[in-house]
Amino acid sequence: MENKKVSLVIPMYYEEKVAKECYKRVKECLDKLENYNYEIIFINDGSKDKTLEILEQIAENDKQVKIISFSRNFGHQAAVTAGLQEVTGDAIVIIDADLQDPPELIPDMLKKWEEGNEVIYGKRKTRKGESAFKLLTAKMFYNTLNALSDVEIPKDTGDFRLVDKKVVDTINSLPEHNKFLRGLFSWVGYKQYAYEYERQERFAGETKYPLKKMLKLASDGIISFSNKPIKLVGALGIFSIIVSIVILIYALISYIFKLNNLSAGWTSIMVAITFFAGVQLLSLWVISEYIGRIYDEAKGRPQYVIDKKINFDK
Ligand code: UDP
Ligand code: MG
Repeated sequence: MENKKVSLVIPMYYEEKVAKECYKRVKECLDKLENYNYEIIFINDGSKDKTLEILEQIAENDKQVKIISFSRNFGHQAAVTAGLQEVTGDAIVIIDADLQDPPELIPDMLKKWEEGNEVIYGKRKTRKGESAFKLLTAKMFYNTLNALSDVEIPKDTGDFRLVDKKVVDTINSLPEHNKFLRGLFSWVGYKQYAYEYERQERFAGETKYPLKKMLKLASDGIISFSNKPIKLVGALGIFSIIVSIVILIYALISYIFKLNNLSAGWTSIMVAITFFAGVQLLSLWVISEYIGRIYDEAKGRPQYVIDKKINFDK
């Protein structure tokens, strides 16, 4: 029987301190695998440090290493999406470059795949070396997402996973541009398996996910998997109408019974104006988030631009 092939997809953004060790650790694990061929696809997401240089050296000596290099930073999800477009394996592993997700687990995940599971997603039992702030915001994000979304998106799950070729084909065939991968991998269905593991500390360097990128990921996730925020706008509108009716009744009562407590009328007017202004702005913001996305999709601009590809013979 012919050997099956495993493809690794590893995004890198300013990972010069990590790149070599990442390659070494991953390679060690893959070389131990019997009966499997492999390829490693590194995506350089527009890093301006030595990341690409180091990767090019590696690819020079190892033809199983392929490189996709973006023209600028397009973000983690875009990098992984680009890698998925190029994989040729039967099983595909998405893994972070910083070794927080141990590559040593791949053989065991492959076993679960051989047993017939099609999406084996890494579920973090513990997360070492991550700030309390990150843990709290991550928890809030998954709770909000699940409360709002129609698809169950597993908690404590990142993009670390092993998936079958046919799952990747499905994801690649989806026309949407801003792909929120961990949501889509759950949305596609198939036979899912939660693979529990201990998330390690970053091997070197700092996180490449500052608050701004985390917020973008969170809003991408929520907007692409839920229409509820837009419905919430309606609910807010109804709520504010009820509040205004209550204020009106209160004013009528005080007029009829000549309580004279609203003589200036200032309080009620101010409350009403500020309240409605708030509701309107809030509603506009939610709606504009959706319109912005519709606009992005309508433009049909690609999610990333590739500058260079190495070791892809074709
Ligand atoms: N990454 C990327 N583009 C970005 C940000 C991050 O390709 O714009 C990569 C990064 O190099 C790493 C992975 O995505 O391999 C996860 O990033 P990181 O480890 O910094 O995130 P954290 O683990 O802190 O959530
Ligand atoms: Mg990390």
